[in-house]
Amino acid sequence: MHVGLILKVSKFCNLRCTYCCEMDDLGDRRRMSLNQIETVLCSVRTFLEAYGSGDDSVSLYWHGGEPLVQPVSYWSAIREAQEGCLGEDLCRRTSNALQSNLTLVKPAHLPLLSWMRIGFSYDVVNDLRVDMKGRPSADQVVRKVDWLTSVGVPLAGIVVVSKANATRHEEVADFYLARRLPFRFILLDEALEHRGEVQVLRVGLPEYVRFAEALWSLPRVRQAIAGGLRIDPLSEVLSLLKDDDHGSGPPDTAALGGREHLLEVDTDGSVYSTADYPYRGSYGSIFEQPLEQLLLSDARRRRVARSRDRLDRVCASCRFLGRGCSGARVSHATEPVYAEYVSAGGCELSLVADVISPPKASRAA
Ligand code: SF4
Repeated sequence: MHVGLILKVSKFCNLRCTYCCEMDDLGDRRRMSLNQIETVLCSVRTFLEAYGSGDDSVSLYWHGGEPLVQPVSYWSAIREAQEGCLGEDLCRRTSNALQSNLTLVKPAHLPLLSWMRIGFSYDVVNDLRVDMKGRPSADQVVRKVDWLTSVGVPLAGIVVVSKANATRHEEVADFYLARRLPFRFILLDEALEHRGEVQVLRVGLPEYVRFAEALWSLPRVRQAIAGGLRIDPLSEVLSLLKDDDHGSGPPDTAALGGREHLLEVDTDGSVYSTADYPYRGSYGSIFEQPLEQLLLSDARRRRVARSRDRLDRVCASCRFLGRGCSGARVSHATEPVYAEYVSAGGCELSLVADVISPPKASRAA
């Protein structure tokens, strides 16, 4: 069994990026205490001891705010706590990843970065990632990227596709390929559209798919992927296409809808499906209730029923469901993103796959 948690250790951040989904809380200095983090880890271990299969694994994604606002001693203590709470065996099968804006990373962090993977956000073309005074952080981020790669720290980037860079795919590719850095390109969360500046910037699924198609059309991008560099979701789609012919029987949407994907743990311990974070449909508090109890909550039952409906409506006719894809993108999407999937007839993966390699029926037509 696999347990994946996104832990919002604190919302506090030194930047004020225009499209941050935590904008209202970025000045809040509260953080999870070490005791609370130990409670989370012990809860995961107890759950796996009761229900695991023996070859269990845990993925911990440390998020904020900006996690590196917290002192190095905080992260060193979390590392030690893992060894104590998860036990030696499970600790070996636990991965840690931290999502950072990189502006605060310094030499004292290097020992930690051999323990956890570090992801950073850089869109290459735009000035949306700004500090509290509205000054762009891009130059600082590029300097940190180049320093970290020069000392051998593996990095992976996230690129938000917006109106600023949706037609600048060559520049995006050149930045990452020049450094041989893997990256994932994502859409701006439609849930943020109530903020005027986000509405102006956001592109929809059709423009996103065109960006993917344009990237794929670049021979240097294809060569990099063939050479093992991950550029997602292109790499993910190529894996799905490889499995496309190997499925058997109709997918079991009831079973797939019951699967948990990633659980978001808010700074106060409230646990959410990624579909409902934040502040809606909490399963309960992992600081106060065992994980098993959270997974038996009415909120989770409602999430599972909704996921099954979504899979039947959007994924059941997809060539990938049950053949490499569990439908998690659709079953765990926020409501506005799900509405977009309904009108497009699929998620990013299926839509990008259709432009890279149309389904056999349409190829024959
Ligand atoms: S529509 Fe997307 S999430 Fe659903 S099965 Fe297809 S690829 Fe997976």
